[in-house]
Amino acid sequence: NHKAKIDLNAVLAEGMAFIEPRFAKVDIQFKSTFDPELPPILADASQITQVLINLVINAIHAMDSMGTLTLRTARAGRLVQMVVQDNGIGMDQQTLEQIFLPFFTTKDLDHGTGLGLSVVHGIVSAHDGTIDVKSEIGNGTTFTITFPTYKGKD
Ligand code: ADP
Ligand code: MG
Repeated sequence: NHKAKIDLNAVLAEGMAFIEPRFAKVDIQFKSTFDPELPPILADASQITQVLINLVINAIHAMDSMGTLTLRTARAGRLVQMVVQDNGIGMDQQTLEQIFLPFFTTKDLDHGTGLGLSVVHGIVSAHDGTIDVKSEIGNGTTFTITFPTYKGKD
């Protein structure tokens, strides 16, 4: 755990630069919209990258190798938001209620262990953040994560 004052935009951009070339063969459009006025947050950059990767890999699976993945940041009052949106298969209510449980998965063992979102939940909690999920079968899923803004002196 290495928390420091970080620019979330920069960490996410670097994460996407790692992820995107690995999915060059699939028909997925990556769109990023970063708020240029985003305040800094107090965070462990490698854990934030882990959150991003887990959400993006899930989104890519949900889109079955074609679709649009949108990554967004925004300031929301005293909070900093990070949004990962896909237009994949979506989830029903029963699935949504279980996604953060360790080992809950709808995939076979080759594709998932069911640990990704429980790790995401643990990391976000350790950063005093929140996770909101909106999903609709056939229309896709949106994960919105919020973090408090950095309150240090410099
Ligand atoms: P895994 O990916 O190994 O199955 P996760 O904890 O990452 O485990 O996700 C748990 C389950 O949540 C997945 O198996 C899937 O059913 C569902 N899920 C997660 N993200 C999405 C998404 N973007 N779209 C649809 N379903 C999702
Ligand atoms: Mg996963």
